Amino acid sequence: MKKPIVIIGAGFTGLAAAYEIAHRGMPVVVLEETGSIGGLAASFEINGQKIEKFYHHLFNSDQYVIELINELGCRDNLLFSPTATAIYLNNKFFKLSTPLDLLRFSALNILDRIRLGLLVLKARRVKNWQPLDALTAEQWLIELCGRNVYKTVWEPLLRGKFGPYAGQISAVWIWNKLVLRGGSRNKAGGETLAYYRGGFGMLAETIAEKIKSAGGVIHTSSPAREIIVENGCVKAVKTPDAVFDAQAVIATPALPVIADLLSPHVSGEYLNKLRAVKYLANVCLVLELNNRLSDFYWLNVAEPDFPFVGIIEHTNFQSPQNYGNRHIVYLSKYLKSSDEMYRMSPGQVAELSLPYIKRMFPHFDDSWIHRYYVWKTLYAQPVVSRSYSQIIPPSQTPIKGFHIATMAQIYPEDRGINYAVRQGRQIAGI
Ligand SMILES: Cc1cc2nc3c(=O)[nH]c(=O)nc-3n(C[C@H](O)[C@H](O)[C@H](O)COP(=O)(O)OP(=O)(O)OC[C@H]3O[C@@H](n4cnc5c(N)ncnc54)[C@H](O)[C@@H]3O)c2cc1C
Repeated sequence: MKKPIVIIGAGFTGLAAAYEIAHRGMPVVVLEETGSIGGLAASFEINGQKIEKFYHHLFNSDQYVIELINELGCRDNLLFSPTATAIYLNNKFFKLSTPLDLLRFSALNILDRIRLGLLVLKARRVKNWQPLDALTAEQWLIELCGRNVYKTVWEPLLRGKFGPYAGQISAVWIWNKLVLRGGSRNKAGGETLAYYRGGFGMLAETIAEKIKSAGGVIHTSSPAREIIVENGCVKAVKTPDAVFDAQAVIATPALPVIADLLSPHVSGEYLNKLRAVKYLANVCLVLELNNRLSDFYWLNVAEPDFPFVGIIEHTNFQSPQNYGNRHIVYLSKYLKSSDEMYRMSPGQVAELSLPYIKRMFPHFDDSWIHRYYVWKTLYAQPVVSRSYSQIIPPSQTPIKGFHIATMAQIYPEDRGINYAVRQGRQIAGI
């Protein structure tokens, strides 16, 4: 019998690759380190309902994942809803859902409000991202909307998201975000986003079912620890419990994990490339509340010293009835894995964060908290620095048959389920 293609990682890239391979009639085995599938979009349960550990939504323009959902016959599970966005700045909330909100954005003078509004239009007019690759977001944003808008709005947000790397972030990264969010607006200028009924973990399960029904195999709790290479060609993948013969391997974890797997066999330039991309970790405090915190789904917190950069009130997007009438709020913090907060216990994370919530929402009371959860991930966001295109490692490694497909290679777009699906299906076609 023909040896299978072994896929390392059952996030959306690995699942999409396995789906494609299985449907081409080829044998495929997926090895996943954790006990469940879905990767960064994996779920846990609140009141018996699956929900993401880290908040997730889709944009209207996420064509690759929407195409896959259609193919799976699950179009009815895509739920489009209008969402309200705001920014918290100088101890105030500013709704920023529509162009009218922008005109009322009193943190900026009227000229700067117009500059900020025009930024999205100017960004959408940029069709060729290459000239932006050599610029930082800071340089490009100051050029387009002036220093005051940059200092008031963008700098605190970039510092909140990328911390010490904020000044290095590529103009391409922010350009892409502006285009993406601009593209998810309806005729009145409001934003509409999409969720998957039952959560994205459910979508992962549906893909997994299709893989299995086409003859593929998925092993959870099966970390790839070693690869076997003969004459420069990959032959097998070893987990603590078994050896999986492979005609080819597709690795989807973060680049440092892949570097560790390859390092006994590869040295020099390729390994340096794998190690050149930096990542930020993420800590998400998920509050299960008895009451609604705000009216916003997405609240950017432009206060870099707060222990979170965003408050995502999931139940202002999906009904609290789905979660036993609980209100679900994510507080998201991107940080270096060496940051003290990354090592904190769930109780310490809550203790650190809640005083800031009280400051923002004086009516908030600890008695609202039914339960809370803290989720952490080491490789949450590649640091998309200036000239990022120069440091992205190619998919073909120096080992024959060993390919990589990771979120750090997505460019000029940024990581996301949509691009994971595109990348997984593409790599499967090699
Ligand atoms: C806080 C946060 C919010 C996000 N919000 C959104 C959003 O709203 N919309 C959106 O589209 N995207 C969002 N994303 C991004 C999205 O989750 C990712 O782009 C996507 O899930 C990446 O999928 P992947 O398969 O490439 O990687 P991953 O999901 O990281 O999957 C890699 C898999 O490999 C496994 N693995 C690691 N090492 C090994 C090993 N040695 N052996 C076997 N398996 C291994 C991991 O456990 C994991 O399951 C968000 C991400 C974060 C962190």
